[in-house]
Amino acid sequence: MSRRFSLEGRRALVTGANTGIGQAIALALAEEGAQVTAAGRRSCDETVERIAAAGGQGDQIRLDLADPMAATGLFAGAGYDLLVNNAGIIRRADSVDFTEADWDDVIDVNLKAVFFTAQAFGRELIARGASGKVVNVASLLSFQGGIRVPSYTASKHGVAGLTKVLANEWAGKGITVNAIAPGYIATNNTEALRADPERSKAILERIPAGRWGDPADIAGATAFLCSPAADYVTGAVLNVDGGWLAR
Ligand code: NAP
Repeated sequence: MSRRFSLEGRRALVTGANTGIGQAIALALAEEGAQVTAAGRRSCDETVERIAAAGGQGDQIRLDLADPMAATGLFAGAGYDLLVNNAGIIRRADSVDFTEADWDDVIDVNLKAVFFTAQAFGRELIARGASGKVVNVASLLSFQGGIRVPSYTASKHGVAGLTKVLANEWAGKGITVNAIAPGYIATNNTEALRADPERSKAILERIPAGRWGDPADIAGATAFLCSPAADYVTGAVLNVDGGWLAR
């Protein structure tokens, strides 16, 4: 029997895999049989330990994408066929007060690094005639404006566009490129929102599922997009948001 959701024999790199959504994705890919490299600017010991405890295969590397070209040397000869561009940052301030540093830092990690990491991954696959899959972590703010997060919103709109252009260029080469748009997920990224009783209440009331998302909610959808079951899915931005955008 073919196992269309299995990732046996795949080799995956997940950025920002020390915590939150990236950690949950690394774990899910390993649970489906992939050998996973957890990449983080800090130690990914916890992620690697959890993978091992679940019976999977994982290792780790240090990767600081404040230099958006930092990952470009990782792919040659390494055998990766799955890439999850998850690392991301957010800065909050009124648009009238927003600084150039808060613009550049966010665009570098969330957009420029996503492109050049995917480019290096795609180059390597194309050079060896191999197939593969890229999943970028986008956001509801790939579709909506948000409030007080101009560089984040610009970066995530950009991620949706990059996902589509790369999908178009690489579909004929056996490389799919998709994105996940997480809704409101309980991680470090949303700590400030959850700590603000008014914003937190307003957000929760608008989520049809009636709860914040869990990183594992994003991981399952990502594992699907990495699997053979999704071979004909490319250029998609999949909302995993408890119904937020349907409302
Ligand atoms: P998180 O817990 O803050 O995780 C972000 C990850 O990115 C961390 O591993 C972080 O490392 C890493 N990272 C940040 N800057 C980096 C750099 N310069 N180099 C390498 N890694 C770096 O938040 P999260 O919610 O899991 O975020 C994961 C992704 O989901 C992000 O792209 C985010 O925009 C997206 N997202 C989240 C939500 C949500 O509701 N949580 C919604 C939509 C989209 P450190 O731990 O060292 O900071």
